[in-house]
Amino acid sequence: MFDKILIANRGEIALRVLRACHELGIKTVVAHSEADRDTKYVKLSDESVCIGPPPPAHSYLHIPAIIAAAEVTRAQAIHPGYGFLSENAGFSQCVEESGFVFIGPRADTIRLMGDKVSARQAMQAAGVPCVPGSDGALPDNDKAVLRIAGKIGYPLLIKAAAGGGGRGMRVVRQAGELLDAIRITQREADAAFGNASVYLEQYLTAPRHIEFQVLADEHGNAIHLGERDGSMQRRHQKVIEEAPAPGISAAQRKKIGAACADACRRIGYRGAGTFEFLYQDGEFYFIEMNTRVQVEHPVTEMISGIDIVQEQIRVAAGLPLRYTQEQVVLRGHAMECRLNAEDAFSFIPSPGRIAHYHPAGGPGIRIDSHIYQGYQVPPHYDSMIGKLIAYGDDREQAMARMRGALRELSISGIDTNIALHQLLFSDPGFIAGRTSIHYLEQWLADRRQGAPG
Ligand code: ADP
Repeated sequence: MFDKILIANRGEIALRVLRACHELGIKTVVAHSEADRDTKYVKLSDESVCIGPPPPAHSYLHIPAIIAAAEVTRAQAIHPGYGFLSENAGFSQCVEESGFVFIGPRADTIRLMGDKVSARQAMQAAGVPCVPGSDGALPDNDKAVLRIAGKIGYPLLIKAAAGGGGRGMRVVRQAGELLDAIRITQREADAAFGNASVYLEQYLTAPRHIEFQVLADEHGNAIHLGERDGSMQRRHQKVIEEAPAPGISAAQRKKIGAACADACRRIGYRGAGTFEFLYQDGEFYFIEMNTRVQVEHPVTEMISGIDIVQEQIRVAAGLPLRYTQEQVVLRGHAMECRLNAEDAFSFIPSPGRIAHYHPAGGPGIRIDSHIYQGYQVPPHYDSMIGKLIAYGDDREQAMARMRGALRELSISGIDTNIALHQLLFSDPGFIAGRTSIHYLEQWLADRRQGAPG
C-alpha cells in the first residue's frame, strides 16, 4: 500500500479523498491553488503545496506544477478526483512516466473510452447494448450518409467522436437538414476538440439517465455495484441522484451490470468507473463511460456499504478487489442533492463568505462538503459546495429524511439552491419517480410561466 498520496483536486472531493487516505493510514499532500490556501482540508492534510494562482489553467490543470509537487513531497501516487485532469489521458501518461501511480485507469483505456466512436465499438463487442446508430465515424460520401441515416430513422442525433460536457451534439428532425447539420457539427468539433469526426445515433425523445458503477482490479476481477438514476438534470448537469433507480428489476440490474463488468475485463479496466445509459421503454442504451470517480458515488456507497474511493486506491496499489460480485449486497435507498452556491431559481452563481452554517444530521444523513462558517466560496470554480445524502430502508424513508435534512440545513451569507431541492422533494411527479432527462427543465419552464410545478 502507498505511504503518501497527492490529491490533485479541490473542494469536497479533495476532502473525500483525504478522508479515505487517512482511514487507510496513508499520508496526504493536497496540491492547491492560491484561492484554496486557507481551506480546512488543506490544514487537515499532512502536507500541502501551492501549485499556482486561482485560474485552473495555472493550477489544477497545470500538469508540470502537479508533477513537481509530487516530486518534492515524495508522494507515490496521484488522485485526480473528478473534473480537471481526471479524464485526461496525457496527464495519466505523464504521471506514470514520471514514476508515480495514477489512481485511475491506464492512459490507453482513458483514450479508448474518451473517443465516443471507439467506446461504442468496444461496448458493442462486449455485448453492452448501445443506442442504434452508425457503425463508426461517418464516411465522406453524402449518399452513403443519407442511406445510413435513413436506416436509423429520424429524429437523429449527430455526435462528435471527441465531444464532452454536453457539447458537440446536434438534433436533426428530417433528412433535408442532415447534410448541413453534419458539416456544421464537424466544423465545431474540429475547432473545439481538434477532431472533426462525427457519427449518428437515434435521438431518444424522453429517456431516463441510468448509470452503472463498476470496480475493477489488475488481477482480472471486475464487479458492478448496481445503478444510479441521474435523470434530474439542468443543462446536462445532474441536480439530484439516487440509487437504486426506481422501477429497475433485479433481473435487469443483474443483466446490464454483468455486461458492464464483463466489458471491464475485456478492455483491461482498472479502478472505479461508470457506464452511462439512456433508458427508454424498458431498454438500456449505452452512451458513454466515465473513467473516474463521480460526484454521485456516495449514493452507491450508502446502499452497498462499500467505500468506492478506498477501493480505487487499493486497486491502484495493485491489490485485489476486496469483494466478489456475490458479496455485493445492495440494501435500502439513497438520494443525493447537489448543493450549489447559486440562486435557487435564476442559477446565478453566488460566491462569497458563508456567514452562518448549520449542517443537518440524524439517522441516515451524510454531508460531503468542505464548507464551514466563515469559508469564502471562491468565484473561480464550479459552484458546487457540497452534497447532502439521505439513506433509508426504502425510497419513501430516504425522501422523508431528505426533507427533514433540507429543513435543518442552513447556509447564509451566500445564495444556495436549498429552496429548489425543497420544492422538488414535494413535487408529485418526482416523488412518483416519473422523470426523464427533460423533467427538471420542463418543471422550471412551467414554474417560470406560473403553471403549477
Ligand atoms: P457528454 O460526453 O457531452 O456528456 P453524452 O454522450 O454523455 O455526452 O450525452 C450527454 C447528454 O445528451 C445525455 O445525458 C442525454 O441527456 C443527451 N443524449 C445523448 N445521447 C442521446 C440520444 N441518443 N438521444 C437523446 N439524448 C441523448
